[in-house]
Amino acid sequence: MSGPYDLHCHSATSDGHLAPTEVVARAAGLGLAALALTDHDTVAGVAEAQRAAASYGLRLVPGVELSVLWQRRTLHVVGLGVDPQEPGLQAGLAQMQRARQERGEAIGERLEQAGLSGARAGARAVAGSADITRAHYARWMVASGQVRGFEEAFKRYLRQGRVGYVPGDWVAMEQGIEWIRGAGGIAVLAHPLGYGLTGAWLRRVLDAFTAAGGGGMEVACGSSPEPRQVQRLGGWCRRYGLLASAGSDFHAPGDLSSRELGAAPALPGDLPRLLDALP
Ligand code: AMP
Ligand code: MN
Ligand code: MN
Ligand code: MN
Repeated sequence: MSGPYDLHCHSATSDGHLAPTEVVARAAGLGLAALALTDHDTVAGVAEAQRAAASYGLRLVPGVELSVLWQRRTLHVVGLGVDPQEPGLQAGLAQMQRARQERGEAIGERLEQAGLSGARAGARAVAGSADITRAHYARWMVASGQVRGFEEAFKRYLRQGRVGYVPGDWVAMEQGIEWIRGAGGIAVLAHPLGYGLTGAWLRRVLDAFTAAGGGGMEVACGSSPEPRQVQRLGGWCRRYGLLASAGSDFHAPGDLSSRELGAAPALPGDLPRLLDALP
């Protein structure tokens, strides 16, 4: 298939601002031919997105973005083409949601001790029925005037080394890849330049990722759109024989820290496209 598409985005089922139906409507309005909904550690929005996509004639790829641990670092692995009902994946995601709940509480306690009273209830209210992410805390900080902007919330309170940073008790990368593959999906290393890794460390990550059954990597990412970045990622993708994925990591309309749906840069033409390998 051809035409614009997007294999990485979020709805309000995790830390996006739009309901799954609204994300799909936006994608259709922008003329996308295919969209993967990849919420953090949940597939709870996929059924709604599939219903909406059917009404627009848009191809909806069921997906998820898992938070995983490798060598005590948090990485993100996107699962594409997963069966959202598959029991192993369901059980795994239930475990992740418990880890998120505990971490969400721990972040709130730390922020309240640091003087941000009402943080826990505030983030809970922003999240609605979604599991808490740091982005919900950041949105509460902005809305309650604790910080001037979303980025400042991370810089001052939420990033590693700050008072509100609590490492998540995420699944091991190898196990996360198994959950995705067990549910019929392809595991994709998300935004590889987003972890602050040197080339040598990225190589170690890719060695472990491919050895564990990872099948693709994001080469065209909303967060690293420069031609040099795409070329660099394309080089790694070729070397490891991975399928090339493209995704914006859209979270919200007009959001400065993420891109519009479908706005990832173009993939180098010689790379095998992950989209074409999906069932
Ligand atoms: P969590 O998975 O709970 O650690 O939350 C991470 C989410 O927060 C990511 O998926 C992003 O949407 C957002 N995020 C993390 N770091 C930043 C940052 N520096 N600026 C903006 N958003 C960020
Ligand atoms: Mn996010
Ligand atoms: Mn991510
Ligand atoms: Mn994402």
